[in-house]
Amino acid sequence: MQKDNCVHFCCIIGVMRIVGILLLLLFASCAVVQNNEFMARAESLMQGHDHVYLLPFEKGKSYYVVQGYESMLSHKGDYAIDFKVKPGTKIMAARDGVVVFARETNEKGGVGKKYVGKGNGITIKHNDGTYAHYWHLQYNGALVNVGDTVQQGQLIGLSGSTGFSAFPHLHFEVTREQRISREDFPVLFFTEKGPKFLQPFRWYKAL
Ligand SMILES: [Zn+2]
Repeated sequence: MQKDNCVHFCCIIGVMRIVGILLLLLFASCAVVQNNEFMARAESLMQGHDHVYLLPFEKGKSYYVVQGYESMLSHKGDYAIDFKVKPGTKIMAARDGVVVFARETNEKGGVGKKYVGKGNGITIKHNDGTYAHYWHLQYNGALVNVGDTVQQGQLIGLSGSTGFSAFPHLHFEVTREQRISREDFPVLFFTEKGPKFLQPFRWYKAL
């Protein structure tokens, strides 16, 4: 009786193992399919935009990405990156350009409807007509003014959590329209492993 029980138990373990392995293979293949689909979408959305951006922070330190392209929380169908950073973190221009928007008068942030559109931010126009948006800056956190020319790597602002924001972070996206909009598209960043699309839940060193 005991032996039978053992055989039965071993059998269940064996089946569970096989099911586990099959599930793993299924997830792995899904990830590959998803990755390939993303790469195809990215390529068509980028329309040949091959500029590689710097992480918008001080060189030499590492920064944590909480939402990447098409992330399921607030970036579903969006091409923006959320970096989780402490309030007051220095934000550097990811690319040269001219400041076309800067707002730093808002003091509050949260996830209520009343906070939508109430964030502080900076928009920089690049020489190819695209725009980079740096969002949720702290009160008085825009250190540049409209009309300023900025160099890549230049200090432009201080991070915060103003507007529609659940926690202190920097929202970064590149668009073809001046407004943060659905006209956003994925861009590559310089990483220690070369130009990459940043992935959520990973650390990246600013180079
Ligand atoms: Zn965001």
